[in-house]
Amino acid sequence: MGRVVVVGSTNMDVTTRVDRIPQPGETVAGSAVVFTPGGRGANQAVAASRLGAPTVLVGAVGSDGFGAVLHEFLRGEAIDVTCLVRLDSVTGTAVTMVDDAGENVIAIVPGANTAVSAAALDGLGLGPDDVVLLQQEIPASANAQALSRARAAGARTVLNAAPHRPMAADPLAADVRAAVDVLVVNEHELAGLVPEAAGLPHLAATAAVAAVRGLLADGAGPTADIVVTLGGAGTCARIGDAVVTLAAPQVPVVDTTGAGDCFCGAFGAGLAAGLPAATALFHANLAASLAVQRPGAGAAMPTRAELDALLT
Ligand code: ADP
Repeated sequence: MGRVVVVGSTNMDVTTRVDRIPQPGETVAGSAVVFTPGGRGANQAVAASRLGAPTVLVGAVGSDGFGAVLHEFLRGEAIDVTCLVRLDSVTGTAVTMVDDAGENVIAIVPGANTAVSAAALDGLGLGPDDVVLLQQEIPASANAQALSRARAAGARTVLNAAPHRPMAADPLAADVRAAVDVLVVNEHELAGLVPEAAGLPHLAATAAVAAVRGLLADGAGPTADIVVTLGGAGTCARIGDAVVTLAAPQVPVVDTTGAGDCFCGAFGAGLAAGLPAATALFHANLAASLAVQRPGAGAAMPTRAELDALLT
C-alpha cells in the first residue's frame, strides 16, 4: 500500500454567529464563536487518514497558538506531521461571520501557507505506490515543485484545482498540465477552466469533461484523467478513454462544507490502496455522501468502517 502525501494548506477556521452582518464601521454582538481545523490540504489529509491510508501532510503553520493546536489535532488524526513545519509567522486563518439568514462574509489570511515548500518531498522516498495530492491554497510555485518531484519519483499526482486560479494568469500552467495524472474540479472550477462548460446541465457534463481533457492534451505532457464533482448530482469523470458517471446517494444533507475535500482525500486513499481509478472514484462518491450528513469539514470525514458498511 502506498501513502497519500498531501502538500497543501492548514488553517484555523474561526466562525462567529451574528444576528446580521455589520455595515462598514459598525460593531454587532456575536452569539457564538467556533474554532475548527480547516484548510483544503488538512481536510483532505484527515479524509485520507480516516479511511486508512498512511497519510503525510507537507505544510506549514505559524508559531502562534493556532499552529500548536492544529499540529496536535492532525497528529491525533494519525497523520504524519513531521513535514508540517512551524514557521515564525501566523497560522493561516479563515474568519467567517454567519448571520441568521445563512449569509456569510469571510476573510482568509493565508499566513504560513504562503511559505509552504515542496522540498520536504525529497526526504520521503516517494515511489510509484504513493499519491501526491495537491490543491490551490499554497503558492503555484510550490505546487509546480511538488509535481516535478513527484513525477521524478514515479508517484501518482492528483491536483484538486480549488479554489480556481486562472490558468491564463498562472505562468506554471504548462508545467501543471504536463505533470498531473488526475485533475479534480467542481462545476465552478470547471467553468473557470473551460468557459463553454458554464451552465451545462448536471449530467450533461460529460461534454465538459471531454472539453477539459482536450485542454490538457494541448500541452506536450501526458493527458490527465479528469474528475468533475457535481454536488448532489454525484460525479462524472473521464478516465483513460472511458467516461464514468456516478449519481450521488440520496441522503439527508446537513452541511456540504468540505464535501469536495472528503471526495479528494478518499479518492487519493483509494488510489494509494492500489484500487483502479474508477473504483477509487466510486468510494470517493460514497465517502463524500457520508460527509454531507454531518456538520463541519474535518470533523465530518467518515471512517473506514463507515465506508465499508456502505460497500458490503
Ligand atoms: P465542492 O465541495 O468542491 O463544491 P461538490 O459540491 O461537487 O464539491 O461535492 C463533492 C462530492 O460530494 C460530490 O461529488 C458528491 O459525491 C458529494 N456530495 C455533495 N453534495 C451532495 C449531496 N447533496 N448529496 C450527496 N452527496 C453529495
